[in-house]
Amino acid sequence: MAATSVFVSGATGYIAQHVILQLIAKGYKVVGTVRSTEKGEDLKKKLKSDNFTYEIVKELGTVGAFDEALKAHPEVTVFLHTASPFHFNITDPEKDLLIPAVEGTKNALSAIATYGPQIKKMVVTSSYAAIAHYDVDTVSSNTFTEDSWNSVTWEKSKGNMFDGYYGSKTFAEKAAWDFVKENKPNFTLSVVNPVYVFGPQAFASDATGTLNTSAEVISSILKLKSDDEVPSDSGAFIDVRDAAEAHLVAFENKDAEGKRLLVSEARFTSQEILDIVNENFAEYVKGRIPVGVPGSGAEKIKTLAKIDNSKTRKIIGHDFIGLKKTVVDAIQQILDTNGSI
Ligand code: NAP
Repeated sequence: MAATSVFVSGATGYIAQHVILQLIAKGYKVVGTVRSTEKGEDLKKKLKSDNFTYEIVKELGTVGAFDEALKAHPEVTVFLHTASPFHFNITDPEKDLLIPAVEGTKNALSAIATYGPQIKKMVVTSSYAAIAHYDVDTVSSNTFTEDSWNSVTWEKSKGNMFDGYYGSKTFAEKAAWDFVKENKPNFTLSVVNPVYVFGPQAFASDATGTLNTSAEVISSILKLKSDDEVPSDSGAFIDVRDAAEAHLVAFENKDAEGKRLLVSEARFTSQEILDIVNENFAEYVKGRIPVGVPGSGAEKIKTLAKIDNSKTRKIIGHDFIGLKKTVVDAIQQILDTNGSI
C-alpha cells in the first residue's frame, strides 16, 4: 500500500519541522509549503529524505494561496495547517496578524473543498490563545478546558500586537469550525491548541541567534545580566516534541476527530526557568545571569488560572515532557551548536 501523503503548511516553522521529522520517521510522505525556493531547498537538505517535497506559498492570506499546491498533489489525504504569523515584529495587528491568520485558514479550507476532495483529515494548529485571554488566565479562580473559548472581539484585537495574536488564533480557529458546520465537507477536523512551546530546534544548526518567538523565551534568559530584574513571564508550556506529536495523533486517532487537543504540561515562570539554568549550567552562567529568588516560582503559579486538559491527556495516552528536560535540552542544543551559551 502506498504511504499516506500529508500536506503541511508553514513547513519551515519551529513546530512544523518537528511534525515533519516525526511524519517521515513514521513512513509518511510530506508535501510542505514554504515561502521561497531557498527555504524549501534548505529544509530539504536538512531533512535528507526523498519523502519530503515542497511547494511555494508566498503569502497565506492571498486569495487561492493553496490552490496550485493542492492541485499539484492529488495524492495528499491529510492536511495539517500550521502556518500563521507568530511574531511581534509588526506595525498593524489587523493587517499583519488577524487577516493573514484568518484568511490563510479560509484559503486552506477552500483549497481542500475545491481541489482536494480526496482529503479525509484536516488538522489546524490553533493555540491556547483561542482558549483563554491573558486577562482571565491570570485569575486563580478560573479553570480552562478544551471547551473554553477566548471571548476577545475583533475590535479589541486590533488594539495592540498581543491582543492581535489572541484574536488571530481565535478567529482563525472559529473560521475552521464554522466551515465544517456549514459545509459538511468530506474531511474531519481536529485542532491542536498548544500553550507556549519550548524545547530544542528540530535541527541543531538552527539553534543560533534569535529563535522563534516561544523558544526565545528560554534563550533570552541566557542574555540577562546578573543585575537585571528576573522577567515576569509566566504561562503554561508544552515541549515542542509533544506539541508536534499531537498533530500526528490528531489525524491518526479516531478519538481526536472533531476535537480540540489542549496540549499543556504545566505552568511555568521565568524564575523556574532561571532556577533550572542556574542548577544545570552553573559553570557557564554563574555570576553572569541573575539568581532571583530560587524556588519562588510556585507562589506566582498559584495566582494563575487552572488548566484542565484531562480529555487531551487521555487521547494522547502518555505523560508530557517536563520543564526541566525541555529547558535543559534546549540550552544544551544552543551550547553544542555555538560552543558557548
Ligand atoms: P514559526 O516558527 O514562526 O512558524 C510559522 C510558520 O508559518 C513559518 O513557516 C512561517 O514562514 C509561516 N508563515 C507565517 N506567516 C505567514 C504568511 N503570512 N504567509 C505564509 N507563511 C507564513 O511559529 P511556530 O511557533 O512554529 O508556530 C506554528 C503554529 O503554531 C502557528 O499557527 C502558531 O500560532 C501556533 N502556536 C505556536 C505556539 C508556540 O509557542 N510556538 C503556541 C501556540 C500555537 P516564514 O518563517 O517563512 O515566515
